[in-house]
Amino acid sequence: MECLQCHQKFCPHVTLKSIFSFRPLIVSQQCQLCRSQFEEISNGGCLICSKETTKDCCADCLAWQAKYPNSTFKLEPIFKYSEEMKEWIALYKFKGHRALCYCFAEEIANYFSNQHGAVVIPIPLASSRYQKRGFNQVEELLKAGSVTYKKLLNKPAQTMEQNKKSKVERLQTSQPFQLNLGAIACIRGRDIILVDDIYTTGRTMYWAVELIEQCSPKTIKGFCLAR
Ligand SMILES: [Zn+2]
Ligand SMILES: [Zn+2]
Repeated sequence: MECLQCHQKFCPHVTLKSIFSFRPLIVSQQCQLCRSQFEEISNGGCLICSKETTKDCCADCLAWQAKYPNSTFKLEPIFKYSEEMKEWIALYKFKGHRALCYCFAEEIANYFSNQHGAVVIPIPLASSRYQKRGFNQVEELLKAGSVTYKKLLNKPAQTMEQNKKSKVERLQTSQPFQLNLGAIACIRGRDIILVDDIYTTGRTMYWAVELIEQCSPKTIKGFCLAR
């Protein structure tokens, strides 16, 4: 197999557990050396979002709790949003190297194999973004991991693109998402997992959480590649 990042040939490490897991064999298309650049988030950080902190809850999450006091949202990220991850995201998302979605296919498949019965909802992309990029980076990550998802949210066109705004501007804009037709019935009483590629300020995720929590889910959490 060829590594999608450094293009060297490598032998994927296949465990006996994955062979006998009764699901299609999914391996990440990334060599051990490239993979070792990315640091997994360890236990012991913020109880809500896993960010490194010496307290129970990080300052970001305390601010979100003040804004959404009834929210039960929790985030389960895999990797730290390190410089290496920023570079990877830039290649994948902004330079449009779509095939890179297979770099973390196994990690994503493993995470979702333990989430039986949950409704998986990707964070949507504005259609103008989608047309420019040609793919939704979140959906591609899920497809690479053979994860079934439901597009229950959409993002109508906005005047200014999110990443061209400053952090302050991003935190102040109004709800960018809408529920799709039939979303309420799909969400009510179910375990929901919202999925995004990265989580930085939490603003994007909490806009989605706000809409989903209005539909009375049983539980709600978020998954992202990096935090
Ligand atoms: Zn490599
Ligand atoms: Zn936190």
